Amino acid sequence: MRVVFIGPPGAGKGTQSQRLLKYLQVPHISTGDLLREAVRNRTNQGLLAEKYMSEGCLVPDPVMIDLVGKRLDDPDCLGGCLLDGFPRTLGQAQALDRYLTEHSGPLDGVLELKVNENVLIQRLAGRGRSDDEPKVIRQRFRTYRDRTEPLLEYYRVRGLLESIDGIGTQDEVFDRIRQALTRLGERIKSTRGA
Ligand code: ADP
Repeated sequence: MRVVFIGPPGAGKGTQSQRLLKYLQVPHISTGDLLREAVRNRTNQGLLAEKYMSEGCLVPDPVMIDLVGKRLDDPDCLGGCLLDGFPRTLGQAQALDRYLTEHSGPLDGVLELKVNENVLIQRLAGRGRSDDEPKVIRQRFRTYRDRTEPLLEYYRVRGLLESIDGIGTQDEVFDRIRQALTRLGERIKSTRGA
Protein backbone atom coordinates (compact mmCIF):
# COMPACT_ATOMS: atom_id res chain seq x y z
CA MET A 1 0.00 0.00 0.00
CA ARG A 2 1.04 3.57 -0.62
CA VAL A 3 -0.07 5.61 2.36
CA VAL A 4 0.53 9.17 3.54
CA PHE A 5 0.53 9.87 7.26
CA ILE A 6 -0.33 13.44 8.28
CA GLY A 7 -0.52 14.98 11.73
CA PRO A 8 0.50 18.04 13.72
CA PRO A 9 3.73 18.02 15.73
CA GLY A 10 3.45 15.77 18.79
CA ALA A 11 0.35 13.89 17.62
CA GLY A 12 2.14 10.56 18.07
CA LYS A 13 2.90 10.00 14.42
CA GLY A 14 6.39 8.69 15.24
CA THR A 15 5.16 5.93 17.56
CA GLN A 16 2.24 4.94 15.39
CA SER A 17 4.27 4.94 12.20
CA GLN A 18 6.61 2.32 13.70
CA ARG A 19 3.63 0.05 14.31
CA LEU A 20 2.14 0.83 10.92
CA LEU A 21 5.36 -0.11 9.16
CA LYS A 22 5.37 -3.53 10.77
CA TYR A 23 1.71 -3.97 9.94
CA LEU A 24 1.93 -2.86 6.31
CA GLN A 25 5.43 -4.28 5.70
CA VAL A 26 6.48 -1.32 3.59
CA PRO A 27 9.51 1.01 3.74
CA HIS A 28 9.35 4.20 5.76
CA ILE A 29 9.93 7.57 4.13
CA SER A 30 10.17 10.06 6.96
CA THR A 31 11.20 13.47 5.68
CA GLY A 32 12.05 14.64 9.22
CA ASP A 33 14.50 11.73 9.52
CA LEU A 34 15.88 12.20 6.00
CA LEU A 35 16.46 15.89 6.71
CA ARG A 36 18.07 15.31 10.11
CA GLU A 37 20.40 12.80 8.47
CA ALA A 38 21.27 15.33 5.73
CA VAL A 39 22.01 17.92 8.43
CA ARG A 40 24.26 15.47 10.31
CA ASN A 41 26.15 14.62 7.13
CA ARG A 42 26.52 18.30 6.22
CA THR A 43 25.21 17.70 2.67
CA ASN A 44 24.17 20.70 0.56
CA GLN A 45 20.52 19.91 1.19
CA GLY A 46 21.21 19.53 4.90
CA LEU A 47 23.02 22.85 5.12
CA LEU A 48 20.14 24.55 3.34
CA ALA A 49 17.44 22.84 5.42
CA GLU A 50 18.99 23.45 8.82
CA LYS A 51 17.93 27.08 9.14
CA TYR A 52 14.29 26.38 8.22
CA MET A 53 14.08 23.43 10.60
CA SER A 54 15.55 25.29 13.55
CA GLU A 55 12.91 28.00 13.06
CA GLY A 56 9.97 25.63 12.68
CA CYS A 57 9.46 26.61 9.04
CA LEU A 58 9.14 24.41 6.00
CA VAL A 59 12.12 23.55 3.86
CA PRO A 60 11.38 24.83 0.30
CA ASP A 61 9.33 22.52 -1.93
CA PRO A 62 11.99 21.93 -4.63
CA VAL A 63 14.42 20.57 -2.02
CA MET A 64 11.77 18.30 -0.51
CA ILE A 65 10.47 17.05 -3.85
CA ASP A 66 14.00 16.18 -4.93
CA LEU A 67 14.78 14.44 -1.61
CA VAL A 68 11.61 12.33 -1.62
CA GLY A 69 11.71 11.65 -5.37
CA LYS A 70 15.18 10.12 -5.00
CA ARG A 71 13.99 7.89 -2.19
CA LEU A 72 10.84 6.86 -4.07
CA ASP A 73 13.07 5.77 -6.94
CA ASP A 74 14.68 3.12 -4.73
CA PRO A 75 13.48 -0.34 -5.80
CA ASP A 76 12.17 -1.21 -2.33
CA CYS A 77 9.58 1.59 -2.64
CA LEU A 78 8.00 0.35 -5.86
CA GLY A 79 5.52 -1.95 -4.12
CA GLY A 80 4.41 0.62 -1.56
CA CYS A 81 5.64 2.88 1.22
CA LEU A 82 4.60 4.90 4.21
CA LEU A 83 5.13 8.60 3.59
CA ASP A 84 5.57 10.28 6.94
CA GLY A 85 5.87 14.07 6.98
CA PHE A 86 5.44 14.43 3.22
CA PRO A 87 3.59 16.05 1.54
CA ARG A 88 3.20 19.08 3.76
CA THR A 89 2.16 21.63 1.13
CA LEU A 90 -0.20 21.62 -1.83
CA GLY A 91 2.80 21.96 -4.14
CA GLN A 92 4.32 18.84 -2.63
CA ALA A 93 1.01 16.96 -2.90
CA GLN A 94 0.68 17.83 -6.58
CA ALA A 95 4.29 16.85 -7.23
CA LEU A 96 3.70 13.55 -5.46
CA ASP A 97 0.59 12.84 -7.55
CA ARG A 98 2.51 13.55 -10.73
CA TYR A 99 5.40 11.38 -9.63
CA LEU A 100 3.22 8.43 -8.65
CA THR A 101 1.19 8.57 -11.85
CA GLU A 102 4.38 8.47 -13.93
CA HIS A 103 6.21 5.87 -11.85
CA SER A 104 4.64 3.32 -9.53
CA GLY A 105 0.90 3.69 -8.97
CA PRO A 106 -1.65 5.91 -7.24
CA LEU A 107 -1.84 6.75 -3.56
CA ASP A 108 -4.09 4.33 -1.68
CA GLY A 109 -4.94 6.59 1.22
CA VAL A 110 -4.12 9.36 3.62
CA LEU A 111 -4.28 8.96 7.38
CA GLU A 112 -4.73 12.08 9.47
CA LEU A 113 -3.91 11.76 13.15
CA LYS A 114 -6.03 14.34 14.97
CA VAL A 115 -5.14 15.71 18.40
CA ASN A 116 -6.29 18.93 20.03
CA GLU A 117 -3.59 21.63 20.11
CA ASN A 118 -3.53 22.12 23.92
CA VAL A 119 -2.78 18.44 24.43
CA LEU A 120 -0.04 18.66 21.82
CA ILE A 121 1.70 21.60 23.46
CA GLN A 122 1.85 19.71 26.78
CA ARG A 123 3.21 16.59 25.11
CA LEU A 124 5.91 18.46 23.20
CA ALA A 125 7.05 20.34 26.29
CA GLY A 126 8.37 17.05 27.68
CA ARG A 127 10.23 15.85 24.57
CA GLY A 128 13.50 17.87 24.56
CA ARG A 129 14.33 17.96 20.83
CA SER A 130 16.19 21.11 19.72
CA ASP A 131 13.21 22.35 17.69
CA ASP A 132 10.87 21.72 20.64
CA GLU A 133 11.40 25.00 22.49
CA PRO A 134 8.11 26.91 22.98
CA LYS A 135 8.74 29.61 20.37
CA VAL A 136 9.65 27.07 17.70
CA ILE A 137 6.75 24.80 18.68
CA ARG A 138 4.31 27.66 18.18
CA GLN A 139 5.80 28.35 14.76
CA ARG A 140 5.55 24.67 13.80
CA PHE A 141 1.85 24.72 14.70
CA ARG A 142 1.29 27.85 12.64
CA THR A 143 3.10 26.22 9.75
CA TYR A 144 0.93 23.12 10.12
CA ARG A 145 -2.31 25.12 10.19
CA ASP A 146 -1.41 27.41 7.31
CA ARG A 147 0.43 25.09 4.95
CA THR A 148 -0.47 21.50 5.75
CA GLU A 149 -4.11 21.54 6.90
CA PRO A 150 -5.32 22.65 3.43
CA LEU A 151 -4.05 19.29 2.18
CA LEU A 152 -6.73 17.50 4.16
CA GLU A 153 -9.39 19.00 1.90
CA TYR A 154 -7.32 18.18 -1.19
CA TYR A 155 -7.36 14.51 -0.19
CA ARG A 156 -10.91 14.50 1.19
CA VAL A 157 -12.42 15.50 -2.14
CA ARG A 158 -10.43 12.71 -3.77
CA GLY A 159 -11.95 10.18 -1.37
CA LEU A 160 -8.56 9.32 0.11
CA LEU A 161 -8.76 10.82 3.60
CA GLU A 162 -9.29 8.90 6.83
CA SER A 163 -9.16 11.00 10.03
CA ILE A 164 -8.19 9.21 13.23
CA ASP A 165 -8.74 10.36 16.80
CA GLY A 166 -5.23 10.43 18.30
CA ILE A 167 -6.32 10.58 21.96
CA GLY A 168 -6.14 7.31 23.84
CA THR A 169 -3.63 4.56 24.55
CA GLN A 170 -1.19 3.56 21.83
CA ASP A 171 -3.17 0.35 21.31
CA GLU A 172 -6.47 2.18 21.02
CA VAL A 173 -5.09 4.61 18.48
CA PHE A 174 -3.49 1.82 16.47
CA ASP A 175 -6.77 -0.12 16.40
CA ARG A 176 -8.43 2.94 14.87
CA ILE A 177 -5.64 3.14 12.30
CA ARG A 178 -6.15 -0.50 11.34
CA GLN A 179 -9.88 0.06 10.95
CA ALA A 180 -9.19 3.09 8.77
CA LEU A 181 -6.88 1.01 6.58
CA THR A 182 -9.59 -1.61 6.19
CA ARG A 183 -12.05 1.08 5.08
CA LEU A 184 -9.50 2.38 2.57
CA GLY A 185 -8.93 -1.14 1.27
CA GLU A 186 -12.66 -1.64 0.74
CA ARG A 187 -12.96 1.69 -1.00
CA ILE A 188 -10.09 0.81 -3.33
CA LYS A 189 -11.72 -2.52 -4.18
CA SER A 190 -15.00 -0.88 -5.08
CA THR A 191 -13.51 2.00 -7.08
CA ARG A 192 -10.68 0.21 -8.88
CA GLY A 193 -12.40 -3.13 -9.13
CA ALA A 194 -9.29 -4.87 -7.81
P1 ADP B 1 7.24 17.30 13.31
O1 ADP B 1 6.21 16.53 12.54
O2 ADP B 1 7.37 16.82 14.72
O3 ADP B 1 7.13 18.79 13.20
P2 ADP B 1 9.35 16.29 11.48
O4 ADP B 1 10.40 15.42 12.07
O5 ADP B 1 8.37 15.66 10.57
O6 ADP B 1 8.67 17.02 12.70
O7 ADP B 1 10.03 17.51 10.70
C1 ADP B 1 10.97 18.36 11.32
C2 ADP B 1 11.22 19.59 10.45
O8 ADP B 1 11.72 19.19 9.17
C3 ADP B 1 9.98 20.41 10.13
O9 ADP B 1 9.68 21.32 11.16
C4 ADP B 1 10.39 21.10 8.83
O10 ADP B 1 11.27 22.18 9.07
C5 ADP B 1 11.20 20.03 8.13
N1 ADP B 1 10.36 19.19 7.22
C6 ADP B 1 10.02 17.87 7.39
N2 ADP B 1 9.23 17.43 6.37
C7 ADP B 1 9.06 18.50 5.54
C8 ADP B 1 8.35 18.71 4.32
N3 ADP B 1 7.62 17.74 3.74
N4 ADP B 1 8.40 19.95 3.76
C9 ADP B 1 9.12 20.93 4.31
N5 ADP B 1 9.81 20.82 5.46
C10 ADP B 1 9.79 19.62 6.07
